[in-house]
Amino acid sequence: MVGQNLFASTEICSYCKGDGYVQLLLGGSETCGCCKGTGKKPVKDV
Ligand SMILES: [Zn+2]
Repeated sequence: MVGQNLFASTEICSYCKGDGYVQLLLGGSETCGCCKGTGKKPVKDV
């Protein structure tokens, strides 16, 4: 497999897809509770 794996080397939050927020069904948006709005997948590696 040869290609540009941009998402492979970058920890993107799969919940908001890196947006940092999620669209609400009722309208508007809300800060992603998974990544706290950072858009990056939370790492628990200390
Ligand atoms: Zn997120």
